[in-house]
Amino acid sequence: MRELSTVEEVIVSVLRAQNTPTGARTICRELAVEGFETSESTVNRLLTALDARGLTEPLGRKGRVLSADGRRRAEALLLDRHRSLYFERALRMESVDDLIDHLVARRGIEREASRAAALRATDDEIRQLQQSAAAGRTALHDRLDFHRAVGDASHNKQIQAIANTLFVERLDPLESVALTVGLRQGTQEEWENDHRVIAARIADRDPDAAEQAMGAHLDSTIRETEAFARSGWGHVLVQQLSASTPQR
Ligand SMILES: [Zn+2]
Repeated sequence: MRELSTVEEVIVSVLRAQNTPTGARTICRELAVEGFETSESTVNRLLTALDARGLTEPLGRKGRVLSADGRRRAEALLLDRHRSLYFERALRMESVDDLIDHLVARRGIEREASRAAALRATDDEIRQLQQSAAAGRTALHDRLDFHRAVGDASHNKQIQAIANTLFVERLDPLESVALTVGLRQGTQEEWENDHRVIAARIADRDPDAAEQAMGAHLDSTIRETEAFARSGWGHVLVQQLSASTPQR
């Protein structure tokens, strides 16, 4: 089915919110509230097109209502909007506390990811994890790849979805934050070694040890980030984090 245009999406959402037969004039007003300047005749044309696609139905002379299909579409749109609002809010990190919250959430998810990876990773995935953790491969994207690869190797759809959205898509500035903390606190090498240990425990197919190793890695990241912020360098982190905040 063809995607709805933005203005069509708004019309469908307006009809869902109205819950009674709604005419073009009311829709026009609601569109203006959302920033769409349209004439009543344009709205009428759009409504006729939505009727033809089976998403809306005229109800007498009073106006339109959503069809069952249209209602399903409106519910899905609402869900999408909620979801992206939540993600955007989560990714908007404005303080050291936000960063710590993010790392704590990662500790929960990534411990489970490592555990599942020890049980479910393919031999190929294990080889890739070991390569990505190998000494000398310390470029930023390699370390990023490592965390994403553990998430993928979990073969748990829920973990994969979170690992590939919340924790990865916009992780670049976060990784440079981790790099800043690691360099200042002298833990960079220790963290790189952590990756090798995690990969080795997953390769051992030992879920308890893999979970423990990932937990310890993130514990250390949280501890050092807190220490860095306490030592008066918090403003540097906030500056770097603001680079990860989407411009609106
Ligand atoms: Zn790491």
